[in-house]
Order: sequence, then structure tokens, then C-alpha cells
Amino acid sequence: MASFTPTFEIDECIACGGPGLLQSEGGWCVYVECLDCGSHTAFFEYKGEEDRIEAERKAVELWNRGKVIREARLE
Ligand SMILES: [Zn+2]
Repeated sequence: MASFTPTFEIDECIACGGPGLLQSEGGWCVYVECLDCGSHTAFFEYKGEEDRIEAERKAVELWNRGKVIREARLE
């Protein structure tokens, strides 16, 4: 089966303007995370290759709407 990976438009981080990157965790879920401040979306589980694309789409959509969890960092 051919695996098709679409590309998504990922906005800048609403917290710091850093680059958002689609991440996958342990082969079962995906999320978008800011490389600069660590803000991220909720995790989206997936159960197969097709499901993964859907999960990625949802994560990116959430990120682009600004529904992110801000990482509380103690400096
Ligand atoms: Zn950020």
C-alpha cells in the first residue's frame, strides 16, 4: 500500500511566534509542538496509516486555531 503524507500549513506559535512542528509520539499519536517554547496541542491517537493523516489534520487544525497548551516553565 502506498503511503501518502500530505503537507499541512502550520502557523507560528501563538505564544512566542516560533515554528510549530508536527510530532509523533511512540507510533500511536501525533501533536503539534512549538520548537521554541514547548507549547503543544492535545495528543491525537491513531490506529493506522489513514487514521494517522486524519489525526495529523486535527492536530494542525487545533494548533492553527490557537488551542495550545502552554508549557509552564520555571526559569
Ligand atoms: Zn512557542
